[in-house]
Amino acid sequence: MPKSTPEEPSLAPELLAKYEPVIGLEVHVQLLTRTKIFCGCSTRFGDPPNTNVCPVCLGLPGTLPVLNKRAVEMAMRASLALNCTVHEHSRFARKNYFYPDLPKGYQISQYELPLATGGWLEVEVANAKKLIGITRLHLEEDAAKNLHEGFSQSATKAYIDYNRCGTPLSEIVSEPDLRTPEQAYAYLTTLRQILLYTGVSDCNMEEGSLRCDANVSVRLRGSKEFGTKVEVKNLNSFRFLQKALEYEIERHIAVLESGGRISQETRLWNQAESQTISMRSKEKAHDYRYFPEPDLLPVHVSAAWRDEVLRTLPELPEVKRARFVSTFGITPYDAEVLTNTQALADYFESVAKAGAPGKAAANWMQTELLRGLKESGKEIDASPVLPAALAELVKLVESAKITGAVAKKVFATMFESGRTAAEIVAAEGLGAQVGDSDIEQAALEIIAKEPGNVAKFRAGNEGVFKFFVGRVMKATRGQANPQAVNDILRKLLSETK
Ligand SMILES: [Zn+2]
Repeated sequence: MPKSTPEEPSLAPELLAKYEPVIGLEVHVQLLTRTKIFCGCSTRFGDPPNTNVCPVCLGLPGTLPVLNKRAVEMAMRASLALNCTVHEHSRFARKNYFYPDLPKGYQISQYELPLATGGWLEVEVANAKKLIGITRLHLEEDAAKNLHEGFSQSATKAYIDYNRCGTPLSEIVSEPDLRTPEQAYAYLTTLRQILLYTGVSDCNMEEGSLRCDANVSVRLRGSKEFGTKVEVKNLNSFRFLQKALEYEIERHIAVLESGGRISQETRLWNQAESQTISMRSKEKAHDYRYFPEPDLLPVHVSAAWRDEVLRTLPELPEVKRARFVSTFGITPYDAEVLTNTQALADYFESVAKAGAPGKAAANWMQTELLRGLKESGKEIDASPVLPAALAELVKLVESAKITGAVAKKVFATMFESGRTAAEIVAAEGLGAQVGDSDIEQAALEIIAKEPGNVAKFRAGNEGVFKFFVGRVMKATRGQANPQAVNDILRKLLSETK
């Protein structure tokens, strides 16, 4: 990661080692529902501003919210996938604050009785695994979006798009269990993968479907008490999260070391300047004057409903990785790459089920297939080579019908044309590797033509051997088994008098 500016404080390693960072993350994730949480307006992203609005989400007097059952279900899926307890009774509350992006003057959220609590997820950094506690997961509505740019009078006026107002969110709050920016990065990556696997959210950070705030403090290593924490907002990429935390940890240590005190506040990450900037003093819960939402009934989740949601959860990434390693004999690294997305994992499993050996399938996917997809800008679901077709190619190589070198060329043609390996091999006469007698004949002809080089080899010049291998491979159009060429050449060169 490039160091982007000179402003970053850079402390001596001894000072950094003296303190222990304590980090907790609050993640807001937009739930994948078609309609908003308390009205029937569409949640579609990118529609013209203020076209998906109604009296309810505009907060007009006399309107009443109606809870979207699908939003509760999505939040339950996330809760169960994160090992949380989904409570039989939870309740909505009003969080009062006055901003133009919140037309009612309050946000409907959950406070004292959240939907779910007490979960965890496992992160892995530098081969060390760690459980990170999840304090709570609750439901709430999103605010509207302030648009500060792109309009004729943007210099003097603020514009607001209420399309996003009332979009269903889950807020997922971690315990302050994270100790390094790398762990925070890993937590967010793992969380995002689980939310994608379960179909809870598209987790698109550019569109604001996944947003992250961090609470960070430092304390002397060995101390049990927490230091004063600061909330950092505006971390709208994984890279920003890590950089902001690195910056903030060093800032805290520098302030404490110079005898100063950290003030409890909210800061914003400013990417252009690579630093955090004070935004406001941190609100406390009483600033929001929370009280139970009188317009909505408490949420009741029966055991039957919870079990039904639990049954529909897919196999989660961690379990899938372990199964891939034990079932298909691939390495943990292969499994990590191949379970990156559900689609990639499904593809691999289909290739293996179509008869390709796991390790060979994993190798082909991680080299030729992923490279081809990347170069053509395609997603795995749009791969011109289907799993069964890749399996057929892998089997041709494994049964020594074609060489690895030929198979790569065949794959490239498959990727371009969508034809099968068998078709290409037959049409281009690539099939049936050259037999030993053909190799021997080609080798003898070349040896006869190169007495000088034969003499060099016999005099102990090993480098000349490669020259002979190259000539024989060329003579057999790259279709000979390289090991056979090596063996036969060595035998002939040593024998010939
Ligand atoms: Zn509406």
